[in-house]
Amino acid sequence: MKILGFETTCDETGISLIEFKENKKLEFKILAHKLRTQVEVHSKYGGIVPILAAREHKKNLPILLDNLIKETKINLKDVDYFAFSYGPGLPPALVEGKEFVVRLAKRYDKKIIPVNHLLAHFYSILISKNKLNIWQKVRKIEFPAIGLLISGGHTILVHFESFEKFKKLGETLDDAIGESLDKAARILGLEYPGGPKLEKLAKKGKPLFNLPRPMVNQANFNFSFAGLKTAFWELVEEVRRLNKLEEAKADLANSYQKAAFETLIIKVKKALDRYSVKSIIVTGGVISNLTLRKMFLKFFKNKKIYFPLKELSTDNGINIAFASYFFIEKALEPEKLDINPITTI
Ligand code: AMP
Ligand code: MG
Repeated sequence: MKILGFETTCDETGISLIEFKENKKLEFKILAHKLRTQVEVHSKYGGIVPILAAREHKKNLPILLDNLIKETKINLKDVDYFAFSYGPGLPPALVEGKEFVVRLAKRYDKKIIPVNHLLAHFYSILISKNKLNIWQKVRKIEFPAIGLLISGGHTILVHFESFEKFKKLGETLDDAIGESLDKAARILGLEYPGGPKLEKLAKKGKPLFNLPRPMVNQANFNFSFAGLKTAFWELVEEVRRLNKLEEAKADLANSYQKAAFETLIIKVKKALDRYSVKSIIVTGGVISNLTLRKMFLKFFKNKKIYFPLKELSTDNGINIAFASYFFIEKALEPEKLDINPITTI
């Protein structure tokens, strides 16, 4: 069975083709993977401009699909399902993706599988290899698990009894962690997206500055990063007034990362104290950060920890095509697609 997956929730346009063996042993192979990022389009604005994201998706979707068809020689008649990420995401970007996929599905008379973007991030930890054209088995996961999704738009803590049965424990009340790292980077004069640049700068520094760990003493699993960003802005202004900003930048970056990351670790630890689980799943763009990966591995030595492959941490079409396989029974005729893209998990 072949599934073509489309990702257009934010600023990456992704299309991927995955083949699944029909033997119920959950074996699959990635046949093609096309991804185009819009970083250059948005970086001059210091953040993502939704309407420009939509325009780029509209431009890129046919180009990427064309490249994929040329590379694989696939006839779209031989694709069994079209899958796409229906949300949550930026509404104008979601609309472009949805309309493109609906048109294709109608033209080829196929069903559509709408995939929740956040669940796709979690399911991506089941993929162990990102090489094209090799059969691989779905990775085995030890449940129950505590799941943490950390991305540009979300910070969510989930309790998984299995991937079919789960409960949201908490989420950010304001900025997402990725957004907060991007804003902290901007305060230090780094370009969008700042998360990876902040990581690089932080490696050259030490955590010499004190910053808060927001909401860690509250008896809930929610997060808040807006106050941390304001505290950081005030700190940076103070250092600037003392004419020490240039020499302190790496230490400031390191201190911010440490405060934000320790906040995540403390909340996960609280969830582990409350729920008896076998493993921890951490997914989403921010877990590309190797310092954070090391912190998780060090702090939770006695638990099994699952991360996605680094290149599957951020948005892409592989995650969507792959996750959709688990939702095939929810496949729809394109005309019946009536979903609310704002829904989370
Ligand atoms: P996503 O929303 O899952 O596509 O992830 C994008 C977010 O991940 C952005 O806020 C990025 O700044 C952040 N991000 C990507 N790579 C890194 C990194 N190495 N360190 C910290 N944040 C990162
Ligand atoms: Mg994402």
